[in-house]
Amino acid sequence: MARISINIKDGSVKKADTIIGIDLGTTNSLVAIIDSVNGLPYCLSKSDATIVPSILYFNPNGEIKVGNAAKPHLITDPQNTIYSIKRLLGRSYTDIQAHANSYGYRIIEDETKAMIRVEMNGKFYNPIELSAFILKALKENAEAVLNTKIKKAVITVPAYFNDSQRQATRDAGKIAGLDVLRIVNEPTAASLAYGIGLNKDENKCIAVYDLGGGTFDITILRIEQGVFEVLATNGDTYTGGDDFDRAIVMQWCQKFELSIETIEKNKSLYQSIRLQAEHVKKQLSSNNEVDCELEIEGNKHQFKYTIEEFNSAISSIVLRTIECCKMAVRDAEVGLTDINEIVMVGGSTRVPAVVNAVKAFFKKDQVHNELNPDEVVALGAAIEADILAGNRKDLLLLDVTPLSLGIETAGGLMDTIIPRNSKVPQLVGRQYTTSVDGQANLKIAIYQGEREMVEDNRKLGEFILSGIPAMPAGFPKIDIQFLLNADGILKVNATELRSNTSQTISIVPQYGLTDTEVEQMLLASFQNAEQDMQNRLLAESRTEAEQLIYQCQKLIQANAVLLTEMEIKETEHLLNELREVIKGNNRDTINEQTERLNDYTRPFAERLMDTAIGNALTGKKLDAL
Ligand code: AMP
Repeated sequence: MARISINIKDGSVKKADTIIGIDLGTTNSLVAIIDSVNGLPYCLSKSDATIVPSILYFNPNGEIKVGNAAKPHLITDPQNTIYSIKRLLGRSYTDIQAHANSYGYRIIEDETKAMIRVEMNGKFYNPIELSAFILKALKENAEAVLNTKIKKAVITVPAYFNDSQRQATRDAGKIAGLDVLRIVNEPTAASLAYGIGLNKDENKCIAVYDLGGGTFDITILRIEQGVFEVLATNGDTYTGGDDFDRAIVMQWCQKFELSIETIEKNKSLYQSIRLQAEHVKKQLSSNNEVDCELEIEGNKHQFKYTIEEFNSAISSIVLRTIECCKMAVRDAEVGLTDINEIVMVGGSTRVPAVVNAVKAFFKKDQVHNELNPDEVVALGAAIEADILAGNRKDLLLLDVTPLSLGIETAGGLMDTIIPRNSKVPQLVGRQYTTSVDGQANLKIAIYQGEREMVEDNRKLGEFILSGIPAMPAGFPKIDIQFLLNADGILKVNATELRSNTSQTISIVPQYGLTDTEVEQMLLASFQNAEQDMQNRLLAESRTEAEQLIYQCQKLIQANAVLLTEMEIKETEHLLNELREVIKGNNRDTINEQTERLNDYTRPFAERLMDTAIGNALTGKKLDAL
């Protein structure tokens, strides 16, 4: 079987680039790659820190600091320091209105459905641009550590992110100079990091409990033969480790009879107590009590803070997460015993009370928390990047194709074989036939897009199925198979089943298409839907008429002696009329005339025609060469 590999842009074969995995988090972000020696994922660290706080500081002199350099400004200059950008991605002001005041920086209040903006030093930024600053810093860190240019990435997002949030993440990557090969669900990445789903024969149900700094997500996944499917998600976008910190601050305020409102008004005082509370909380993940010293309004407070006090401060928050787990399990329509493994993600799953509550709810002795819960999503993203790089060929991962894929059929029509939004990998087959007697070669042209006529879509490639043995039109059975792999490679195979003549082509459907172009193609298909449908119907009517003309001519030639003179004369008259009307654009007239010819010739056609010709009068035809 011949195999042609085409790089649509330049026809060359390219050396694989390093693809990084990025966990773009609400609180922290990080990058991981696969160690080329041992094949294991690891997080890249620059000066010891693998984690880049998702924080930006806009210095009044125009300088923008990212990550650790920006973090101290949360206290010194909260109005110009941006955190939790991820919460704003793909959102409008109306979406986040209820929480707008909880941000230390100013979110522009326009009651519209447009994208949120923030104003920094007189300039407006949207969350896509802000996220791009973080991604750019991650990219530059990775380039410095690896000493190579990085152009491609896989970025993770929460399972519940909608299309616009996913698109916003992709766009942020693009602004940062990254070609985002795939957006992967965080729970999928976390499972991959634990090797779950890497074995194709494994069928499992997994709960991924992700408690980060500001968000909580629970996801129930089903993994079947390496394909991940989200059964249910639940969570609370305003519950996380920050709430634990706040609960400690409240407890301390009560202890020292301070008004929380007064402290909250003084933003830098609040931030400094909060950071101290966070520090204490972290120590309590491996100690039972901590010595604390607080200085509030000139008064020094020294005290011991115990794990019991902490557990009681956070118990209602932990309970809230368990309530979400309950709902997710219910929505997934699985029993607790159906859930095979629990994966713990996010820094706050280091809190012992959290681990215990999760084990108790899911009735498990063990949960997966062996890996660093801050790194687990990035590690999984690196594994996904490795899969996309083609290094783990046997692995399937669920994704969807953004545009429909199909072939050109008679009349220049697009015949969609894999519709847009189909899950990937996908294998679809369909049968076609020829439209001319003795047709030896068949052109198979592959297109991508949503328009009805192929000329409005994007041509991906074409090939010729040659060597079809001579057969009457409609007789060959041409089976066309589209196999779209997890890595986005489309393989098209055409086989003439009667003679077993076969030909295959491999192409990369999205190569060279930017997301904006994909969007434009979709938009055009919506805008032109009505006219496109009219064009398709007209083209179909014409093709049908042409087929009938061809078959009737053949019928008369082959069977002239068996037909009466009157029958031949009338058929020729109707044929001429049909030839005339198909030159015009009136579909109804073409259909009527086709019908007339059909009605007239049907009785003697039935009498005379062999099955081959009968077959040829129906079904889809591919144009002859
Ligand atoms: P993430 O959003 O996953 O980066 O989670 C960050 C959250 O994890 C913050 O609220 C941190 O305070 C919290 N965290 C990090 N380390 C620990 C620890 N050792 N114990 C408890 N919480 C922690």
